[in-house]
Amino acid sequence: MQECFFCGQAPADPGCTIEQPLYRLTRYAHLGLVRRFEYDKLVIPVGRCAACARIGAQAKKKRKVAIAVGSGIGFLIGLPIPGAFVFTAIGGGFAGYLAARSRTNKMYDRLNIRAPEAVKEYPPVAERLNGGWTLKK
Ligand SMILES: [Zn+2]
Repeated sequence: MQECFFCGQAPADPGCTIEQPLYRLTRYAHLGLVRRFEYDKLVIPVGRCAACARIGAQAKKKRKVAIAVGSGIGFLIGLPIPGAFVFTAIGGGFAGYLAARSRTNKMYDRLNIRAPEAVKEYPPVAERLNGGWTLKK
């Protein structure tokens, strides 16, 4: 039985596995105005237990709320200035995201588990990232 990568203690729950896709550019074609990229795709399962999955889902939800609240506040601040609310809303959302991220990172530290972003340190993933694969297209 594989153990959870995030806490390194509990056994991984098959229903909570993260399927991390990896991409590698295999072909690039420039057809007049059209550019085409072709990728190899690979999915790496990362074992995770139910408790870590629940914590990750809660953190994601908190982050979404913080972004919504931040951009709402930003929107209101920018409202009296014509055109400014677009930028203040984006800035506020970003500030909310950063605040939530630092809060959840502290929580992960306290619980002594890895943050979901640490998936790139998972050895089978890390190995391929060094070999030219990327997490995003
Ligand atoms: Zn775990």
